[in-house]
Amino acid sequence: MNLSSPIHPDSVPSFASLPISRLQGVGPSLRERLAKRNLHSLFDLLLHLPLRYQDRTRILPLADLRPSMEAQVVGEIYEARIARGARPSLQVWLGDGTGMLLLRLFHFGRNQLALLRPGRRLRCFGEVRLGPRSLEMIHPEYRLLKTGQTPPVESSLSPVYPSISGISQTAWRNLVAQALRLLDAYPLEEALPPSVVAEFQLPSLAAALRFVHHPPPDSPLELLSERRTPAHRRLILEELVAHQLSLQRMRQRRRTAPAPALRHDGKLAAKLLGHLPFPLTAAQKRVVAEIAEDLAQPVPMLRLLQGDVGSGKTVVAALAALQAVDAGYQVAILAPTELLSEQHYRTLQQWLQPLGVRCLWLTGRHRGRDRRAKLAAIASGEIPLIIGTHALFQREVAFANLGLVIVDEQHRFGVHQRLQLREKGRKSGQVPHQLIMTATPIPRSLAMTSYGDLDLSILDELPPGRKPVKTVAVPDARREEVIQRVRNACLQGRQAYWVCTLVEESEVLQAQAAEECAQNLRESLPDLRIGLVHGRMPPAERAPLMAAFGSGELDLLVATTVIEVGLDVPNASLMIVENPERLGLAQLHQLRGRIGRGTQEGHCVLLYRSPLSELSRMRIELLRQTTDGFLLAEKDLQLRGPGEVLGTRQAGAVQFRIADPVAQAPLLPQARKIAEILLHQREDAVSPLIRRWFRDREHLAGV
Ligand code: ADP
Ligand code: MG
Repeated sequence: MNLSSPIHPDSVPSFASLPISRLQGVGPSLRERLAKRNLHSLFDLLLHLPLRYQDRTRILPLADLRPSMEAQVVGEIYEARIARGARPSLQVWLGDGTGMLLLRLFHFGRNQLALLRPGRRLRCFGEVRLGPRSLEMIHPEYRLLKTGQTPPVESSLSPVYPSISGISQTAWRNLVAQALRLLDAYPLEEALPPSVVAEFQLPSLAAALRFVHHPPPDSPLELLSERRTPAHRRLILEELVAHQLSLQRMRQRRRTAPAPALRHDGKLAAKLLGHLPFPLTAAQKRVVAEIAEDLAQPVPMLRLLQGDVGSGKTVVAALAALQAVDAGYQVAILAPTELLSEQHYRTLQQWLQPLGVRCLWLTGRHRGRDRRAKLAAIASGEIPLIIGTHALFQREVAFANLGLVIVDEQHRFGVHQRLQLREKGRKSGQVPHQLIMTATPIPRSLAMTSYGDLDLSILDELPPGRKPVKTVAVPDARREEVIQRVRNACLQGRQAYWVCTLVEESEVLQAQAAEECAQNLRESLPDLRIGLVHGRMPPAERAPLMAAFGSGELDLLVATTVIEVGLDVPNASLMIVENPERLGLAQLHQLRGRIGRGTQEGHCVLLYRSPLSELSRMRIELLRQTTDGFLLAEKDLQLRGPGEVLGTRQAGAVQFRIADPVAQAPLLPQARKIAEILLHQREDAVSPLIRRWFRDREHLAGV
């Protein structure tokens, strides 16, 4: 079928819509097992691609065997005997005139010994290993041949499927063979334009599916296993196109809901700019204008503001907030940690109070009468600017007229949480605008797949006068030296962070480790004023400590990675990170962004525990070499995969069946172009295409 043919007429169902129950041998229990893996249709089944392939199309001479290859051989039994020893085994010597091979079976019965008599011929398939005396196969699959029988071979390479418990490889191959027969009988619509298919020399969709499940004997095994054949490329490209289309659909749908047009005369913003001790950078001005224009439209903004640590996102957020306040609406600013929300609260209060704009801070720790008063002030609309944590999602929090939601460090939140907050703002059909900010630069490839439905603003300029942080790596054996360095710096009036890391997610364990570390440092550095903050501390305890560090009454702040995001103390210029090998590049870059914020040059010491793994060594080296957050994020992505970079929850929102958006980033621009063509020329093909690839994507449509 080509593109000009109509999308399946009602009489003949499309192959893509056939349920798995069409196959023989698929009863309720198997269907359920498959459904758990999100395999519902025959198309789904065929997208469960083989992990690798075995070549049973040929019989190899024994002389050609090499260790670690998988091979099919045929030979005559010379000898079969039971070898006693720690682990008795049945040993069978096989020869074919070119060489010998030893088969070893550890699980065997009397009857096997009786069957495997010298003189009989065997066909075996297995992995070749180098044994103590010769090449051998352990527990090969084997079959006895009749006298004079030509050994049968397979007509295509044998796929090996990712295992699903309770379904054997043989059962899988059988299901797939049935599905491929139905693929001959039912139409499967082509979605890619013929020009593209020609340009890339791609096979048709049906041919691609046949090829990946039953590759002909001479197909390149390596390319197949690496999913780099034209057939694979065809499937991947189509999935990427379907994904782009689903993102565009989301965007279209989102824009059908009205939002309040936040019109203002700019007086509040002008006042704030007048009070600030610094002028905006050119990048800040550009981004502020982009946001202001969006906010004035009656269409909900969904904009991602990316800017490296220290690029000055907070003031951008403040200016956006003022526009909403000026227009008579409320603003919610959401931060991932209490610490950060508190800092935002303080900063904004300091900036906005002189303008007569009231702010309120709400977290899970605010309880009782205090909390009730705050909730009332939010519900009545009396306070326009609300800063908080996840607590803002709670049911009792009702806004009077929420016009803008700002989310800081978006990767810490799930898509659904963001939606929840938007829903809170839904009033008489209107939804609030959303500004999402992140200091974890999102590599372009990921941004296109994960955030393709968002508009992007980029702060690509740091405020003037910043010097890049100097980073050194020092082994734990030189800890004393590092401690003395902290001492010297602090005695000269500088301030320092000492960051304890633990892999454990547990805040309790992290807190313990930090307490121990602080204790040791207090003993080693009795002349310094040392404070400790960690995630388990109630804000009432932490706030005065942070304030003391901020005002220079503490020299050294021992902390867990809670300080990673956003903390802003310009006089702190030295940072020690313990066990940096446990953290990702992006996270280390965030941490180190806490220093070098003032006029002092920042120094970061990575105190690692030797020996370092090769990967850790590479990461530390990268950190030493560059302070470009975007570059580091790209590398992090290559080294650790999208789940780590985006946070699992974000990555979880985009589950690809076969495409790997990192490895296949070069195909993305093409996929976007094709999506564009389809939207304009083949509107009718769009929905079926999205549905057959992403049946469960619909729930995200409101993002
Ligand atoms: P981030 O983008 O990491 O959130 P912040 O908003 O915390 O950065 O800003 C970092 C520091 O830079 C703050 O102390 C802030 O007051 C300061 N800052 C922001 N914009 C400018 C500017 N244009 N010129 C000088 N300093 C600025
Ligand atoms: Mg920030």
